[in-house]
Amino acid sequence: DGGSDKAKVLKVATNADFAPFEFQGADGKEYQGFDMDLIRALGKEMGMQVKIDNISFDGLIPALQTGNIDVAISGMSINDDRKKKVAFSDPYYEAGLTIMVKADNNNIKSFKDLQGKKIAVQIGTTSATEAKKIPNAEVKELNSSADTFLELKAGNVDAVINDKPVNDYYKVKNSDDSVKRIGEKLTLENYGIAMNKDNTELVKNLNEALKKLKANGEYNKIYKKWFGTDA
Ligand code: GLN
Repeated sequence: DGGSDKAKVLKVATNADFAPFEFQGADGKEYQGFDMDLIRALGKEMGMQVKIDNISFDGLIPALQTGNIDVAISGMSINDDRKKKVAFSDPYYEAGLTIMVKADNNNIKSFKDLQGKKIAVQIGTTSATEAKKIPNAEVKELNSSADTFLELKAGNVDAVINDKPVNDYYKVKNSDDSVKRIGEKLTLENYGIAMNKDNTELVKNLNEALKKLKANGEYNKIYKKWFGTDA
């Protein structure tokens, strides 16, 4: 690098409204969460300076494609549709979709009970894709998962479909008695870190760094911090 001691910048984007994976702290500045700790640790491992930007979830893949960012880490599930557009790291977290309803709702007990119901989802997500497959459901696509929870609490929808760990964190963290979770998972999904397909060097380096963090206990430390158990 011509003798400069300035670390190369890794341009990261996330949609920082998806606790416990990415969210903004009370000061409104620092990005926190499992993904944020993980990408900072990966950057450090690769000797790169991590710069994080907060953008809309459905803007992440386009930003990778145009080369505006190097990496998207945002609780993003690896799937075939997205693999046509971007490259993914090795899986780093196993999630899946669950339902959340009002605590006093007694007619929605599983995914098949969502037929003909009003459902809130975040735009551009696997929840949105799955909700649209439900017969006669009226799907409301909102900008953030926080908005979907608000819509449920306001009584404007019957249910929210969202990633299980995010539903769990919302319910437990807020001790919110007005909503309840339906346990059954609709899908099994693995989160991956997305990169531009042409950036094969970065994909390789990132996967190596991830392997290292898993082997040296750093990944487990971050996992335990956010989920309370070993990975
Ligand atoms: N895991 C889901 C997806 O990839 C939701 C991600 C999110 O809302 N940040 O679509």
